[in-house]
Amino acid sequence: MILTLKRPILSVGSALWVALGLNGALSLSAWADEVFQARGYYAKGSLREPSSLLQEGPGYVKLFQSRGRQFGSRELVGLIEGVSAYLQQVHPDGERIQIGDIAAETGGRISGHASHQNGLDADLSFFRMNRTEQPISDESGFTEVFVKHGKLTENFDIERNWLFFHTAVSTWKIQRIFVDPAIKRLYCILFDSQGDQAQLTRGSDQASLGEAGETLRRLRPYQNHDDHMHIRLYCPAGNTQCISQEEVLPGTGCRELQALEGRHESSWDSSNQKLRKEHDGW
Ligand SMILES: [Zn+2]
Repeated sequence: MILTLKRPILSVGSALWVALGLNGALSLSAWADEVFQARGYYAKGSLREPSSLLQEGPGYVKLFQSRGRQFGSRELVGLIEGVSAYLQQVHPDGERIQIGDIAAETGGRISGHASHQNGLDADLSFFRMNRTEQPISDESGFTEVFVKHGKLTENFDIERNWLFFHTAVSTWKIQRIFVDPAIKRLYCILFDSQGDQAQLTRGSDQASLGEAGETLRRLRPYQNHDDHMHIRLYCPAGNTQCISQEEVLPGTGCRELQALEGRHESSWDSSNQKLRKEHDGW
């Protein structure tokens, strides 16, 4: 079996919570002192008193280091650190996850992106079968494309990328993960063959989706994500300065993907306009 779709969430969760440092309760003073870092919307926002991702840490390395885009909310930086460390524990011989642009020190508009403005968006590399990292010296962008002619290349590591998606979603901090439509399609096919069909048809109820279905739901198909994924966090709880994006529709989104792909190309364009609105840039 390729995907451990029925992986018990607690075994992922308990190790993950330790990695994230979330096993201890937040003190009241931590809440009282909290600064609302994320301001405004993903595509029209800013960042106050940002947290900064180190250039490298357990399981991750920052790409494009000279760009000065390693800043984010503490939730986003903590999630990257925690999930990376967890993945390294599970696959100690794997390559590190490579982190692209997050946000500028004070947030706001940065070149090449419409979003990434309020410290809740980050671009990340995909895991590779050859376990080879992109050279840090190459700051031109993500260098490897994993979708060719609508199909995934052999170097896309299906299992470890799924583990990343699933672990990240299990923190309940992730609202969306933008990926190329071919990547979503692949996991839809695997879910169809391995998941519970009954769960698929009951998709209107979030709880009935199951853990794998919930992860699949968060994978949002979008063009220009064939060489990296883009994770987007919810506004942090209690942050009244942050503007939320509408929640992802219930269900896995696999039928909608099929419908999109079944249409004529021009219809795809108009459908994609809806996705564009949802994404607000990359
Ligand atoms: Zn992005």
